[in-house]
Amino acid sequence: MSALQNNLNAIKERIHQAAIACGRSAQDIKLLAVSKTFPAEDVRDAHSLGQTCFGENYVQEGVAKVLELKDLRSSLEWHFIGPIQSNKSKDVAENFDWVHSIDRIKIAQRLNDQRPSHLPPLEVCVQVNISGEASKSGIGPDELLDICQKISAMPHLHLRGLMSIPEPTDDVQSQRKSHQQLRELLSQLQKSTALDHQKIQLDTLSMGMSSDIEAAIAEGSTMVRVGTAIFGKRTYL
Ligand SMILES: *Cc1c(COP(=O)(O)O)cnc(C)c1O
Repeated sequence: MSALQNNLNAIKERIHQAAIACGRSAQDIKLLAVSKTFPAEDVRDAHSLGQTCFGENYVQEGVAKVLELKDLRSSLEWHFIGPIQSNKSKDVAENFDWVHSIDRIKIAQRLNDQRPSHLPPLEVCVQVNISGEASKSGIGPDELLDICQKISAMPHLHLRGLMSIPEPTDDVQSQRKSHQQLRELLSQLQKSTALDHQKIQLDTLSMGMSSDIEAAIAEGSTMVRVGTAIFGKRTYL
């Protein structure tokens, strides 16, 4: 068995066990394979092993991979999970199915305006800065309702939920605490009468990476974003 196959089996088993441990079904947790820094051939291999959802962080690299794997396009789901600069938003709008990292109204507006009309609306999550650090991207919890209202009025974006990248820590209780905060924010939005729920589908909590999927799943994650545990350690050139 290849290392990739082993890794995919192992991560699926971790998701399964974590789901069982908190009385959830593993089917409610989507596995996003984060392929940043790895070549298109690795994505092709993972796809041949049944993996369909892939996440990319860097626009240029991601778009190159989407194009290189054009022959598989209809059976792949491409998620953009990295920071988006204004001058790169068009490439994201034209090539991806999902964007997890919306943290400014300006970027949402550009993605909406640049989404080609022959494609379905872009599925989007708003990235929230839970820990409140100035250095990290993500919108503050107090600005969340406003951006969600504005996105819900954009016809080429379909609001699906929230995403976060908490401060890395080995302490499971701290991991759970930040995931719990994101879950509570989603739950408030789901109940909010200030949002037009016909136009949005708040069913997604994109949280949990290689080292904290158990804590994320225990707190309600519906999509875990896993790179290292699937493709191995990244080397940046
Ligand atoms: C790189 C990255 C991941 C995957 O991280 P691993 O620790 O390698 O699993 C997940 N989410 C985002 C936003 C990332 O940039």
